[in-house]
Amino acid sequence: MAKEESKPGVFAGIVALKCPQCREGNLFKKPGLYTVSGMGDMYDRCPKCNLKYEQEPGFWWGSMYLNYGFSVAIILPTFIVFKLFLDVSFYGSLALAGGMLALFIPVIFRLGRATWLYWFGKYKSPS
Ligand SMILES: [Zn+2]
Repeated sequence: MAKEESKPGVFAGIVALKCPQCREGNLFKKPGLYTVSGMGDMYDRCPKCNLKYEQEPGFWWGSMYLNYGFSVAIILPTFIVFKLFLDVSFYGSLALAGGMLALFIPVIFRLGRATWLYWFGKYKSPS
C-alpha cells in the first residue's frame, strides 16, 4: 500500500498562506506574510486544485473579526510592556502600541483571511 504524501498541518498551512483543501496552491498572488504592496491581491481560485476562495459575496467580512482579535493581541501586550515595565507615559505607550499595530497590519490582514478560509473553506469546490 502506497503511503499518501503528507500535507502540512492546519497551522503550517495558515502561516504559509496555502489553500485549505490541497495545501499547495497559494492564497495570495504575492507570497509571504509581510507584503505591503498588493497585500490583498488574492487568487479567485486555488491555482492547484481550483477551490473557490471567496465562497459567497461578502465572505471576507468575517475575517475582520479575526483581525480585531489579532490586533488586540498585539496592542494590549505592547501597551502593558511599555507602560508597566518600561515606565513610558500613558500616551507614549498608546502611541507605541499603535505604531506596533501599524507595523503588523499586513501580517494581521493575511493571517485573518487565511484563518477565516481554513475555518470555513475546507470543502470540495463545484468546478
Ligand atoms: Zn488548493
